[in-house]
Amino acid sequence: MSKDANGGSHKSLLSIREHELARDLIRQGLRIAAIQSLLQHVYRTELSRIWREVFPGESPPAGRLPSGSASVIKTPLDSALAAFMLNEYLAIAVEPDLRVDIEALSAAWESCQDFLGGRNDYANREIRLEFYNINSLWLLARDYLAQKVQSERCQNCGSRRVRCIDWDIRSKLQRCPHCTLREMGG
Ligand SMILES: [Zn+2]
Repeated sequence: MSKDANGGSHKSLLSIREHELARDLIRQGLRIAAIQSLLQHVYRTELSRIWREVFPGESPPAGRLPSGSASVIKTPLDSALAAFMLNEYLAIAVEPDLRVDIEALSAAWESCQDFLGGRNDYANREIRLEFYNINSLWLLARDYLAQKVQSERCQNCGSRRVRCIDWDIRSKLQRCPHCTLREMGG
């Protein structure tokens, strides 16, 4: 074994894998600042370069990322979709209590997009794309890790729901979104 068997070559393999992931995530719409927080071996300038390759002639979105899940979930439907997205992620993620699993993030968003198209209970409602995107999924995964978002089962209807600890106690979102949507005549 050469001295650097665990050093140089291992590191560059990681770097190659991270570059591939970065490209997938950029294509899926994850913001550069979010990707940068998840990868250790890809620099920001490199991410910008990949971004311009994936979206020629465009510039990466400017502005700050939302502060957390609680600030992007605004309607009962957002909340129902949040539960769906987070559960897709948790079903795939390895040790989501210990880290954000970046590969699972990409795979979960892929399956969210495939799956949702065929769901009648969501198809006839207005999905807000400002919420339903991979950046919100990243916030959910990050806040789940930080224990700011919990995934639980509604005691009334049995559906999976999320709860953000930063939600105002009087917020209508404290209520199970599935029960709320059903009442609204879904
Ligand atoms: Zn319910």
